[in-house]
Amino acid sequence: MYVQNKDDKATSIHPLKVGRFAHPENMQGILKIVNKGRARIALEFETDTQANKFVDSNLGSRNDWVVFLPTHLVTCKGVLRGVDEDITKEEIKTDLKCGEREVVDVHRIKRRIRENGLTKYVSMKAVSVTFSLSLPKHVFIYKCSFEVRTYVHPVIQCFGCLRFGHTKTQCNGRMRCLRKRRRRV
Ligand SMILES: [Zn+2]
Repeated sequence: MYVQNKDDKATSIHPLKVGRFAHPENMQGILKIVNKGRARIALEFETDTQANKFVDSNLGSRNDWVVFLPTHLVTCKGVLRGVDEDITKEEIKTDLKCGEREVVDVHRIKRRIRENGLTKYVSMKAVSVTFSLSLPKHVFIYKCSFEVRTYVHPVIQCFGCLRFGHTKTQCNGRMRCLRKRRRRV
């Protein structure tokens, strides 16, 4: 969430001033207040609901401030299937048509496989695309239509302790054997 002066966009606002004004009413959920450029303050909130509450509080208009969420912070991630492996992400970023929205980021989705004790990543015919604003239903790449599905974050499993949520390099747990565990199942 950004705060800046309504008329005089060049005059700086001190973070402390915003913090002090925000205090009696909507201080809940503010994680930090920092300078963002010369005349802008950025407020970081714990949840979306708390950020929206801050916007609704009229705190901005009472102080001649503009409170807004910059578009680059409002993003959605989607998945396109059937995108051939030889099409690069740069090509997709340049050619993809999605109306008003901007393409913020493109990634080729890779599958992690284990082969002879080694981890390999294999490219798939799918890409994840981060859009500004909201998720479109369809997009076009080289005049071909692609359906956009909501991206679901993959579950990571540790090859060391076999627990979920971290990788072997970040592991603090005790090593467990994948083969033994499989046999027991
Ligand atoms: Zn682990």
